[in-house]
Amino acid sequence: MKNIVAANWKMNFDIDKAQSVAQKMAEIINTKAVDVVVCPPFTHLDRLDEVFSSSVIKLGAQNMHFEEKGAFTGEISLAMLQSVGCEYVILGHSERRHIFYEDDEFINKKVKSAKKHGFNVILCVGETLEERKNGRAFDVVKTQLQKGLDGVDRQNVIVAYEPVWAIGTGVSADRDTIEEMHKFIRRSENDVPILYGGSVKAKNAAEIASIDDVNGFLVGSASLDADEFKKIIDEFIKTKGV
Ligand code: PEP
Repeated sequence: MKNIVAANWKMNFDIDKAQSVAQKMAEIINTKAVDVVVCPPFTHLDRLDEVFSSSVIKLGAQNMHFEEKGAFTGEISLAMLQSVGCEYVILGHSERRHIFYEDDEFINKKVKSAKKHGFNVILCVGETLEERKNGRAFDVVKTQLQKGLDGVDRQNVIVAYEPVWAIGTGVSADRDTIEEMHKFIRRSENDVPILYGGSVKAKNAAEIASIDDVNGFLVGSASLDADEFKKIIDEFIKTKGV
């Protein structure tokens, strides 16, 4: 099973700051034990492609549109992403689902299109706090997986379990919650790496990595700092013994 640690920079950094953080990452991250992916804003991809060209770090996008080209104002196609060296794409992130109202059918179209273009797809799933409180966490994740991956072969598919209530809060889900949900996902997704995301940092990375079905992390805020991101990768590698 492939292990992946991915950085989701969201809507942060101007181009110069992005370049300097990326340059530092390229200097200090040399591992081949895990796939390291950085997903900056669209406008920074081209420059970061150059920065990462002689490093182990791969480039990812935070979103895309499923159509090939045409009258889709404000959107970015897969061919455009490919032309700036992108190999990964994050889809179904909870911020896309909740702020931009993307539903499972729409996400499924993106997953299919991204796969057709040979991208590695990181499909995010996860329940809100309300859904968890109502005892619906497993149903919600099951539906997101079933609909998001409907008609999709699992090659180059990565699932990221990101409980919405743990994203950007500074407090990750606890060990039992992560273990239980990753096991649940594993039952239907045998051969797919399952990442955990939600307030991962250097301090909690080893504990989360010690859970069997955690095959990596999707890291938001903590990935904005090159040293912190490297520490998270190191903790993962050390704990897994990979
Ligand atoms: C994310 O948004 O994918 C994420 C995991 O964010 P954070 O690490 O900041 O919780």
